[in-house]
Amino acid sequence: MEKILIIGANGQIGSELFDALAGRYGQANVIAADISPNSLFGAPSYECLDVLDAGHVAQVIEQYDITQVYQLAALLSVTGEQAPLKAWTLNMNGLLNILEIARERRQAGKPLKVFWPSSIAAFGPHTPAVDTPQLAVMDPTTIYGISKQAGERLCEYYFSKFGVDVRSIRYPGIISYKSPPGGGTTDYAIAMLVAARRGERYVCYLRADTILPMIYMPDAIRATIELMEAPSENIRVRSSYNIAGLSFSPAELVRAITSRVAGFEVDYAPDDRQAIADTWPHSLDDTHARADWGWHAATGLDALVADMLRNLSPAAGKLHRVA
Ligand code: NAD
Repeated sequence: MEKILIIGANGQIGSELFDALAGRYGQANVIAADISPNSLFGAPSYECLDVLDAGHVAQVIEQYDITQVYQLAALLSVTGEQAPLKAWTLNMNGLLNILEIARERRQAGKPLKVFWPSSIAAFGPHTPAVDTPQLAVMDPTTIYGISKQAGERLCEYYFSKFGVDVRSIRYPGIISYKSPPGGGTTDYAIAMLVAARRGERYVCYLRADTILPMIYMPDAIRATIELMEAPSENIRVRSSYNIAGLSFSPAELVRAITSRVAGFEVDYAPDDRQAIADTWPHSLDDTHARADWGWHAATGLDALVADMLRNLSPAAGKLHRVA
Protein backbone atom coordinates (compact mmCIF):
# COMPACT_ATOMS: atom_id res chain seq x y z
CA MET A 1 0.00 0.00 0.00
CA GLU A 2 1.45 3.36 -1.05
CA LYS A 3 1.48 6.24 1.46
CA ILE A 4 2.12 9.55 -0.24
CA LEU A 5 3.37 12.89 1.11
CA ILE A 6 3.04 16.06 -1.00
CA ILE A 7 5.25 18.91 0.26
CA GLY A 8 4.19 22.30 -1.13
CA ALA A 9 0.65 20.92 -1.45
CA ASN A 10 -1.06 24.32 -1.25
CA GLY A 11 0.62 25.48 -4.46
CA GLN A 12 -0.52 25.56 -8.08
CA ILE A 13 0.63 22.01 -8.82
CA GLY A 14 0.40 20.44 -5.37
CA SER A 15 -3.28 21.16 -4.89
CA GLU A 16 -4.22 19.49 -8.20
CA LEU A 17 -1.80 16.65 -7.69
CA PHE A 18 -3.46 16.01 -4.34
CA ASP A 19 -6.85 15.51 -6.02
CA ALA A 20 -5.39 13.20 -8.67
CA LEU A 21 -3.41 11.08 -6.20
CA ALA A 22 -6.27 10.95 -3.68
CA GLY A 23 -8.55 9.72 -6.47
CA ARG A 24 -6.05 7.02 -7.37
CA TYR A 25 -4.71 5.87 -4.02
CA GLY A 26 -7.51 6.92 -1.64
CA GLN A 27 -7.72 10.15 0.36
CA ALA A 28 -6.53 8.48 3.54
CA ASN A 29 -3.25 7.55 1.82
CA VAL A 30 -2.29 11.04 0.64
CA ILE A 31 -0.95 13.54 3.18
CA ALA A 32 -0.78 17.19 2.18
CA ALA A 33 1.96 19.35 3.72
CA ASP A 34 2.90 22.97 3.32
CA ILE A 35 4.52 25.74 5.34
CA SER A 36 1.17 27.47 5.85
CA PRO A 37 -0.78 26.54 8.98
CA ASN A 38 -3.78 25.14 7.08
CA SER A 39 -4.66 23.29 3.92
CA LEU A 40 -6.04 25.83 1.44
CA PHE A 41 -8.35 23.17 0.01
CA GLY A 42 -9.43 21.25 3.09
CA ALA A 43 -7.18 18.22 2.73
CA PRO A 44 -8.34 15.70 5.37
CA SER A 45 -4.74 14.79 6.33
CA TYR A 46 -2.63 17.91 6.55
CA GLU A 47 0.72 18.70 8.16
CA CYS A 48 2.13 22.18 8.65
CA LEU A 49 5.69 21.41 7.60
CA ASP A 50 8.79 23.41 6.68
CA VAL A 51 10.78 21.34 4.18
CA LEU A 52 13.92 23.01 5.55
CA ASP A 53 13.30 21.39 8.95
CA ALA A 54 14.84 18.00 8.11
CA GLY A 55 14.06 16.52 11.52
CA HIS A 56 10.37 17.32 11.27
CA VAL A 57 10.17 16.04 7.68
CA ALA A 58 11.81 12.75 8.73
CA GLN A 59 9.41 12.48 11.66
CA VAL A 60 6.32 12.97 9.46
CA ILE A 61 7.63 10.42 6.94
CA GLU A 62 8.20 7.91 9.75
CA GLN A 63 4.87 8.66 11.44
CA TYR A 64 2.81 7.94 8.31
CA ASP A 65 5.18 5.27 6.96
CA ILE A 66 5.46 7.27 3.73
CA THR A 67 6.56 5.41 0.57
CA GLN A 68 6.45 8.31 -1.94
CA VAL A 69 7.32 11.98 -1.52
CA TYR A 70 6.51 14.74 -3.99
CA GLN A 71 8.82 17.64 -3.05
CA LEU A 72 7.23 20.70 -4.69
CA ALA A 73 8.16 23.50 -2.26
CA ALA A 74 10.25 26.11 -4.11
CA LEU A 75 10.57 29.75 -5.04
CA LEU A 76 9.93 30.14 -8.78
CA SER A 77 11.73 32.19 -11.44
CA VAL A 78 10.26 35.64 -10.76
CA THR A 79 9.92 35.39 -6.97
CA GLY A 80 13.37 33.79 -6.86
CA GLU A 81 14.99 36.82 -8.49
CA GLN A 82 13.44 38.99 -5.77
CA ALA A 83 15.11 36.91 -3.03
CA PRO A 84 18.00 34.93 -4.56
CA LEU A 85 19.54 33.61 -1.34
CA LYS A 86 16.18 32.51 -0.01
CA ALA A 87 15.44 30.79 -3.34
CA TRP A 88 18.78 28.98 -3.34
CA THR A 89 18.39 27.86 0.27
CA LEU A 90 14.81 26.63 -0.14
CA ASN A 91 15.26 25.04 -3.55
CA MET A 92 18.54 23.25 -2.77
CA ASN A 93 18.23 22.36 0.90
CA GLY A 94 14.60 21.32 0.53
CA LEU A 95 15.62 18.78 -2.11
CA LEU A 96 18.75 17.68 -0.23
CA ASN A 97 16.75 17.04 2.93
CA ILE A 98 14.41 14.72 1.04
CA LEU A 99 17.22 12.92 -0.79
CA GLU A 100 19.11 12.37 2.47
CA ILE A 101 16.01 11.00 4.19
CA ALA A 102 15.42 8.70 1.19
CA ARG A 103 19.03 7.50 1.37
CA GLU A 104 18.75 6.75 5.09
CA ARG A 105 15.40 5.00 4.74
CA ARG A 106 16.69 2.87 1.88
CA GLN A 107 19.59 1.75 4.09
CA ALA A 108 17.05 0.91 6.79
CA GLY A 109 15.02 -1.21 4.35
CA LYS A 110 12.18 1.32 4.02
CA PRO A 111 12.50 2.59 0.43
CA LEU A 112 11.12 6.05 -0.34
CA LYS A 113 10.37 7.00 -3.94
CA VAL A 114 10.96 10.71 -4.62
CA PHE A 115 9.47 13.08 -7.19
CA TRP A 116 11.07 16.50 -7.60
CA PRO A 117 10.33 18.84 -10.49
CA SER A 118 12.97 20.61 -12.53
CA SER A 119 12.04 23.26 -15.08
CA ILE A 120 12.76 24.62 -18.54
CA ALA A 121 14.52 27.36 -16.52
CA ALA A 122 17.45 24.96 -16.12
CA PHE A 123 18.36 25.80 -19.73
CA GLY A 124 20.05 29.03 -20.79
CA PRO A 125 21.02 31.34 -23.64
CA HIS A 126 23.45 28.87 -25.23
CA THR A 127 20.99 25.97 -25.17
CA PRO A 128 19.61 25.14 -28.64
CA ALA A 129 16.20 26.83 -28.41
CA VAL A 130 14.21 24.75 -30.88
CA ASP A 131 13.53 21.10 -30.06
CA THR A 132 15.94 21.39 -27.15
CA PRO A 133 17.49 17.93 -26.72
CA GLN A 134 17.45 15.99 -23.45
CA LEU A 135 21.22 16.46 -23.18
CA ALA A 136 22.19 20.00 -24.10
CA VAL A 137 24.31 22.92 -22.97
CA MET A 138 22.74 24.25 -19.77
CA ASP A 139 23.78 27.73 -18.65
CA PRO A 140 20.82 29.08 -16.66
CA THR A 141 20.91 32.77 -15.79
CA THR A 142 18.38 32.95 -12.92
CA ILE A 143 18.96 31.68 -9.38
CA TYR A 144 15.88 29.53 -9.93
CA GLY A 145 17.36 27.95 -13.06
CA ILE A 146 20.73 27.46 -11.36
CA SER A 147 19.01 25.69 -8.46
CA LYS A 148 17.11 23.46 -10.88
CA GLN A 149 20.26 22.53 -12.80
CA ALA A 150 22.11 21.75 -9.55
CA GLY A 151 19.07 19.82 -8.31
CA GLU A 152 19.13 17.65 -11.43
CA ARG A 153 22.75 16.77 -10.75
CA LEU A 154 21.87 15.92 -7.13
CA CYS A 155 19.04 13.64 -8.24
CA GLU A 156 21.28 11.72 -10.62
CA TYR A 157 24.01 11.54 -7.96
CA TYR A 158 21.71 10.14 -5.27
CA PHE A 159 20.42 7.55 -7.74
CA SER A 160 23.81 6.39 -9.03
CA LYS A 161 25.69 6.61 -5.72
CA PHE A 162 23.01 5.53 -3.23
CA GLY A 163 20.28 3.88 -5.34
CA VAL A 164 17.62 6.42 -4.33
CA ASP A 165 14.61 6.00 -6.66
CA VAL A 166 14.23 9.66 -7.61
CA ARG A 167 12.31 10.78 -10.68
CA SER A 168 11.93 14.21 -12.25
CA ILE A 169 10.38 16.19 -15.08
CA ARG A 170 11.51 19.52 -16.52
CA TYR A 171 8.07 21.10 -16.41
CA PRO A 172 7.26 23.70 -19.03
CA GLY A 173 5.04 26.65 -17.94
CA ILE A 174 1.92 25.09 -16.46
CA ILE A 175 -1.51 26.52 -17.32
CA SER A 176 -4.40 25.85 -14.93
CA TYR A 177 -7.60 27.39 -13.63
CA LYS A 178 -8.02 25.87 -10.16
CA SER A 179 -5.16 27.48 -8.25
CA PRO A 180 -3.20 30.66 -8.94
CA PRO A 181 0.34 30.36 -10.31
CA GLY A 182 3.25 30.90 -7.92
CA GLY A 183 5.37 33.61 -9.57
CA GLY A 184 6.87 32.23 -12.77
CA THR A 185 7.79 33.86 -16.10
CA THR A 186 5.11 31.90 -17.97
CA ASP A 187 2.27 33.12 -15.69
CA TYR A 188 1.22 35.69 -18.32
CA ALA A 189 -0.74 33.01 -20.18
CA ILE A 190 -3.03 32.39 -17.22
CA ALA A 191 -3.35 36.11 -16.48
CA MET A 192 -4.29 36.77 -20.11
CA LEU A 193 -7.00 34.10 -20.05
CA VAL A 194 -8.36 35.49 -16.77
CA ALA A 195 -8.52 39.00 -18.29
CA ALA A 196 -10.29 37.66 -21.38
CA ARG A 197 -12.83 35.82 -19.23
CA ARG A 198 -13.52 39.00 -17.27
CA GLY A 199 -13.89 41.10 -20.42
CA GLU A 200 -10.82 43.21 -19.57
CA ARG A 201 -7.91 44.47 -21.64
CA TYR A 202 -4.58 42.82 -20.76
CA VAL A 203 -1.09 44.30 -20.57
CA CYS A 204 1.43 41.56 -21.41
CA TYR A 205 4.89 41.73 -19.84
CA LEU A 206 6.44 39.66 -22.67
CA ARG A 207 6.87 40.63 -26.34
CA ALA A 208 4.18 39.33 -28.68
CA ASP A 209 6.60 36.95 -30.43
CA THR A 210 8.09 35.26 -27.33
CA ILE A 211 7.57 31.53 -27.87
CA LEU A 212 7.78 29.39 -24.73
CA PRO A 213 7.04 25.73 -23.94
CA MET A 214 3.82 25.31 -21.97
CA ILE A 215 1.62 22.46 -20.80
CA TYR A 216 -1.97 22.18 -19.62
CA MET A 217 -2.31 21.09 -15.99
CA PRO A 218 -4.14 17.80 -16.70
CA ASP A 219 -1.26 16.77 -18.99
CA ALA A 220 1.33 17.81 -16.38
CA ILE A 221 -0.42 15.84 -13.63
CA ARG A 222 -0.79 12.78 -15.86
CA ALA A 223 2.91 12.98 -16.82
CA THR A 224 3.91 13.15 -13.17
CA ILE A 225 1.85 10.15 -12.15
CA GLU A 226 2.82 8.10 -15.22
CA LEU A 227 6.49 8.74 -14.50
CA MET A 228 6.10 7.78 -10.83
CA GLU A 229 4.20 4.60 -11.68
CA ALA A 230 6.59 3.41 -14.42
CA PRO A 231 8.79 0.41 -13.57
CA SER A 232 12.10 1.57 -12.13
CA GLU A 233 14.14 -0.21 -14.80
CA ASN A 234 12.41 1.87 -17.51
CA ILE A 235 13.59 5.15 -15.97
CA ARG A 236 16.87 5.70 -17.74
CA VAL A 237 17.08 9.46 -17.10
CA ARG A 238 17.68 10.16 -13.40
CA SER A 239 18.44 13.86 -13.77
CA SER A 240 15.15 15.13 -15.23
CA TYR A 241 13.07 14.37 -18.33
CA ASN A 242 12.17 16.86 -21.06
CA ILE A 243 8.46 16.68 -21.76
CA ALA A 244 6.77 18.66 -24.52
CA GLY A 245 3.25 19.95 -24.16
CA LEU A 246 2.67 22.78 -26.59
CA SER A 247 4.60 25.91 -27.58
CA PHE A 248 3.10 29.30 -28.36
CA SER A 249 3.74 33.04 -28.22
CA PRO A 250 1.53 35.70 -26.59
CA ALA A 251 0.35 36.70 -30.10
CA GLU A 252 -0.71 33.12 -30.86
CA LEU A 253 -2.54 32.89 -27.54
CA VAL A 254 -4.33 36.17 -28.29
CA ARG A 255 -5.43 34.78 -31.68
CA ALA A 256 -6.77 31.62 -30.04
CA ILE A 257 -8.64 33.69 -27.43
CA THR A 258 -10.15 36.21 -29.86
CA SER A 259 -11.66 33.38 -31.90
CA ARG A 260 -13.83 32.79 -28.80
CA VAL A 261 -13.91 36.18 -27.05
CA ALA A 262 -14.70 38.89 -29.58
CA GLY A 263 -13.04 42.25 -28.95
CA PHE A 264 -10.37 40.98 -26.51
CA GLU A 265 -7.35 43.29 -26.70
CA VAL A 266 -3.79 43.14 -25.43
CA ASP A 267 -1.06 45.77 -25.02
CA TYR A 268 2.59 44.81 -24.76
CA ALA A 269 4.92 46.30 -22.13
CA PRO A 270 7.89 43.93 -21.76
CA ASP A 271 9.61 44.15 -18.36
CA ASP A 272 12.41 42.27 -16.54
CA ARG A 273 10.66 38.98 -17.21
CA GLN A 274 11.41 39.34 -20.94
CA ALA A 275 15.14 38.89 -20.22
CA ILE A 276 14.37 35.63 -18.42
CA ALA A 277 12.09 34.35 -21.19
CA ASP A 278 14.73 35.19 -23.82
CA THR A 279 17.09 32.60 -22.30
CA TRP A 280 14.57 29.75 -22.28
CA PRO A 281 13.83 27.20 -25.04
CA HIS A 282 10.97 27.58 -27.52
CA SER A 283 10.23 23.88 -27.72
CA LEU A 284 11.51 20.62 -26.24
CA ASP A 285 12.51 17.27 -27.71
CA ASP A 286 10.87 14.69 -25.44
CA THR A 287 12.03 11.52 -27.24
CA HIS A 288 13.41 9.98 -24.03
CA ALA A 289 10.19 10.45 -22.04
CA ARG A 290 8.20 8.94 -24.92
CA ALA A 291 10.51 5.96 -25.25
CA ASP A 292 11.06 5.25 -21.54
CA TRP A 293 7.59 5.68 -20.05
CA GLY A 294 5.24 6.34 -22.97
CA TRP A 295 4.75 10.08 -22.50
CA HIS A 296 2.55 11.96 -24.96
CA ALA A 297 0.80 15.32 -24.61
CA ALA A 298 -2.95 15.37 -25.19
CA THR A 299 -4.02 19.03 -25.16
CA GLY A 300 -3.43 21.51 -28.00
CA LEU A 301 -3.83 25.29 -27.89
CA ASP A 302 -7.47 25.56 -29.02
CA ALA A 303 -8.65 22.85 -26.63
CA LEU A 304 -6.68 24.47 -23.79
CA VAL A 305 -8.16 27.92 -24.42
CA ALA A 306 -11.69 26.54 -24.71
CA ASP A 307 -11.36 24.56 -21.47
CA MET A 308 -9.75 27.45 -19.54
CA LEU A 309 -12.45 29.92 -20.64
CA ARG A 310 -15.17 27.42 -19.76
CA ASN A 311 -13.79 26.80 -16.27
CA LEU A 312 -12.51 30.20 -15.18
CA SER A 313 -15.03 32.03 -13.04
CA PRO A 314 -16.16 35.23 -14.83
CA ALA A 315 -16.21 37.06 -11.50
CA ALA A 316 -12.76 35.91 -10.49
CA GLY A 317 -10.73 38.91 -9.40
CA LYS A 318 -7.97 36.37 -9.13
CA LEU A 319 -7.91 32.66 -9.55
CA HIS A 320 -9.50 30.79 -6.73
CA ARG A 321 -9.45 27.14 -5.94
CA VAL A 322 -12.55 25.31 -7.02
CA ALA A 323 -13.34 21.77 -5.99
P1 NAD B 1 3.75 27.36 -5.96
O1 NAD B 1 4.58 28.57 -5.63
O2 NAD B 1 2.38 27.54 -6.46
O3 NAD B 1 3.69 26.39 -4.68
C1 NAD B 1 4.80 26.16 -3.86
C2 NAD B 1 4.28 25.80 -2.46
O4 NAD B 1 5.40 25.56 -1.62
C3 NAD B 1 3.47 26.93 -1.82
O5 NAD B 1 2.20 26.45 -1.41
C4 NAD B 1 4.30 27.34 -0.62
O6 NAD B 1 3.54 27.74 0.51
C5 NAD B 1 5.08 26.07 -0.34
N1 NAD B 1 6.32 26.33 0.42
C6 NAD B 1 7.15 27.37 0.31
N2 NAD B 1 8.17 27.25 1.19
C7 NAD B 1 7.97 26.09 1.85
C8 NAD B 1 8.69 25.42 2.87
N3 NAD B 1 9.81 25.93 3.40
N4 NAD B 1 8.21 24.22 3.31
C9 NAD B 1 7.04 23.70 2.80
N5 NAD B 1 6.33 24.31 1.84
C10 NAD B 1 6.79 25.49 1.37
O7 NAD B 1 4.63 26.49 -6.98
P2 NAD B 1 4.11 25.47 -8.09
O8 NAD B 1 3.87 26.24 -9.33
O9 NAD B 1 3.08 24.59 -7.56
O10 NAD B 1 5.48 24.65 -8.35
C11 NAD B 1 5.77 23.46 -7.66
C12 NAD B 1 7.11 22.94 -8.18
O11 NAD B 1 7.04 22.77 -9.59
C13 NAD B 1 8.30 23.86 -7.91
O12 NAD B 1 9.44 23.09 -7.63
C14 NAD B 1 8.49 24.57 -9.22
O13 NAD B 1 9.81 24.98 -9.40
C15 NAD B 1 8.11 23.49 -10.20
N6 NAD B 1 7.70 24.04 -11.51
C16 NAD B 1 6.51 24.70 -11.64
C17 NAD B 1 6.16 25.22 -12.88
C18 NAD B 1 4.85 25.96 -13.07
O14 NAD B 1 4.58 26.43 -14.18
N7 NAD B 1 4.01 26.05 -12.06
C19 NAD B 1 7.01 25.05 -14.00
C20 NAD B 1 8.22 24.40 -13.80
C21 NAD B 1 8.56 23.85 -12.57
